[in-house]
Amino acid sequence: MTHAPSLRDADYAPGSTGDIFRLIRAGQASSRSALARHTGLSPSTVGIRVETLQRLGLVSESGEQESRGGRRAKRLLVAAEAGCVAAIDFGAHHLEIAVADLDGTLLGTVSRSGLGDDSPSAVVAVMWEQVLAALEKAGVEPARLRGIAISLPAPIEYPSGRVVFPSFMPSWHNVSLPALFGEYTGVPVLVENDANLVALAEAHPAGNDHLLAVILGTRIGSGIVTEGRLQRGFNGAAGEISHTSVGGVPAISCICGLDDCLESVASGGAIAATLAAAGYDVTTTSDVIRLGRTADPVVIAALREAGTRIGTVLASVVNFFNPKRVVLGGTMSASAPLVAAIRAELFARCLPIAAHDLDVSAAEDPATAGLRGAVKLALEEALAPARIDELARQDAQTAQPA
Ligand SMILES: [Zn+2]
Repeated sequence: MTHAPSLRDADYAPGSTGDIFRLIRAGQASSRSALARHTGLSPSTVGIRVETLQRLGLVSESGEQESRGGRRAKRLLVAAEAGCVAAIDFGAHHLEIAVADLDGTLLGTVSRSGLGDDSPSAVVAVMWEQVLAALEKAGVEPARLRGIAISLPAPIEYPSGRVVFPSFMPSWHNVSLPALFGEYTGVPVLVENDANLVALAEAHPAGNDHLLAVILGTRIGSGIVTEGRLQRGFNGAAGEISHTSVGGVPAISCICGLDDCLESVASGGAIAATLAAAGYDVTTTSDVIRLGRTADPVVIAALREAGTRIGTVLASVVNFFNPKRVVLGGTMSASAPLVAAIRAELFARCLPIAAHDLDVSAAEDPATAGLRGAVKLALEEALAPARIDELARQDAQTAQPA
């Protein structure tokens, strides 16, 4: 099966059917008259576009809402049940899958434990099996699936979605998951860095957000949103703070070949390795969290030390980028001693102008942040104006008498 190309960033004509759908979806116009005002199109052209969207099953028109001129207008809404997308959160020790409707409401989730050192094609087979399980759990026919987005704790080349030197599962370098999914489905499949998806999940829909999302998991990553938009940089590497050079004793080797990276010294994986070397029974970040709650002085010292290193790096990033919010996610964000040390060092080292009103807080629901971001991304692609325009063209062709 060939894969549909990415259309989320493709050009579309203002006032096209896809653009009309975008305005309805964003809540910028929710009646025919509002659409005409917003686009400058004639009421009859707006009518043709809306009827196409209704024929495609993407929009419903119901009820009544206040209109300016006293006449009551019918309200246009995205038909949430017209399809669904799947979100996959794949981490060093977990695999979680969610299915959401076209409004982004989660309909069902499934999860299973990590897949160890399995090959990418074996992992994709399991991912697809779990997507089907999540669809069944949500009571949605597989034919209604419109897109899939996958969160990976690795640098992801943009826009290809190629994995580039992941620090865990090094054999995944250069892997293209969308191509592997081609064996199972023709819907668009997107791959994105986990921290970028948490940033996307946390960004306010109003579109003026300025935030840094930091993932504290087995590895460390960050995602950047400015004025409501995810910033990936030129190749997709923006926010890769894990290879920032810091002092301290490396506990794990770094894939980049250098010794003193933040990730080797202060990531959840590094803390676990430090404690294991000291004789503690610990392998995963969840074990570290559990140990941290025992108030063992060696464990607390390791967490504080790591938090101080992370806070030092974040202070530089905050001074440079001046975000309004720093959102902490990932399993290690549940460690109180780690987060306290990060905050203390960050505020101690930040310029007053950057620290003023800076909000450092946990992600809204850290456990689902990656999945929520992946749902947003999958919907951006599945409902991209250029894709809706393509559906409208196909609809016009089938409507033509032969
Ligand atoms: Zn490194």
